[in-house]
Amino acid sequence: MKKNYVIPFFIPHEGCPHKCVFCDQRKISGHRGVSPDDVARTVDAYLSTIPASGTNVEIGFFGGTFTGLSALVQEGFLRAAYPFVEKGVVNGIRLSTRPDFIDKRKLDLLKRYEVRCVELGVQSMSDNVLTAAKRGYVSGDVEKASAMILKEGFLLGHQMMIGLPFSHPEDEYYTAMRACELGASQVRIYPVVVVDGTELASWWNEKRYVPLSESEAIKRCANLMIYFEISGIKVIRCGLHPSEGLLGDDCLAGPFHPAFRQKVESRIFGLMLSRLEKMDDILGIAFNPEDEAVFFGFQKENLPFLRNISHSVKDLVKKDMSVLRGSFMVKTREKDFHVERSFIAGECLPSMLL
Ligand code: SF4
Repeated sequence: MKKNYVIPFFIPHEGCPHKCVFCDQRKISGHRGVSPDDVARTVDAYLSTIPASGTNVEIGFFGGTFTGLSALVQEGFLRAAYPFVEKGVVNGIRLSTRPDFIDKRKLDLLKRYEVRCVELGVQSMSDNVLTAAKRGYVSGDVEKASAMILKEGFLLGHQMMIGLPFSHPEDEYYTAMRACELGASQVRIYPVVVVDGTELASWWNEKRYVPLSESEAIKRCANLMIYFEISGIKVIRCGLHPSEGLLGDDCLAGPFHPAFRQKVESRIFGLMLSRLEKMDDILGIAFNPEDEAVFFGFQKENLPFLRNISHSVKDLVKKDMSVLRGSFMVKTREKDFHVERSFIAGECLPSMLL
């Protein structure tokens, strides 16, 4: 399988007339403005570190509302990126934008530069939650934009948030369900963090908003990841990444951890392993070596499950490249079987998602 790389450009707040309660785009992106002149140099620098074969490389314009920029500025960025696609050293261009900044004319422009994937900053499909977050559009706008993006031949990505004001797990499950129904093939899940200088920070100061605890955020994200993965949707990000430049002092509260996704994956493996504890005839468990850290868990938190299966974890487990990532193989006296996300779907997901 090819390894994916995205060469990211964060375009803070450019073109965005809104002020969502959680957003200070400049702080979240950690960048103070990018111009089309920066693109070629940056792409060349990234490409010099990426293997030339066995990879899928994309240039991504994130952070702002790309299609809200003037056509001239959009073209400036696209024209700077496109030669890399033409030369075949980059496989495609992707970008993120708001659902209410999509129309046929805007998509025609993106098509001219062979943009491959358009990610919508959906955040929630619950209109109450969208209103409370001051997003400035409703779920119907997401539906229209998603349909148009697919009709024009782009891949569709949805970005969603957990822990928004007034957002309950049911709102988030509903948002995930709609992403599947609307045809998203990839998603990003962002837990809300309180960023200094935002309206949410004032609410947090006044105790009108309480962010999710880390353990609750991990639990919600794990359930969503299980759902997306059994639905065939790729989760390309879970948690804010350190490369997005969220500086320590700017994050006032909330579930921000540089290894957030690893913690979520660890929890999923922990849940899958805990289901084996009652079986007394397990002879061995094989996992993909690339999953080693999450199989044993963040700070080895899954070891107790393995010790409950066998006194000698060393003799119980082995690495096997042929095992599908995100799963493991179990060998018993009677049979061998494959344990994947669907193994725990019943206990983790509400009936609306099953
Ligand atoms: S639409 Fe995006 S860039 Fe604009 S304020 Fe909201 S989150 Fe920030």
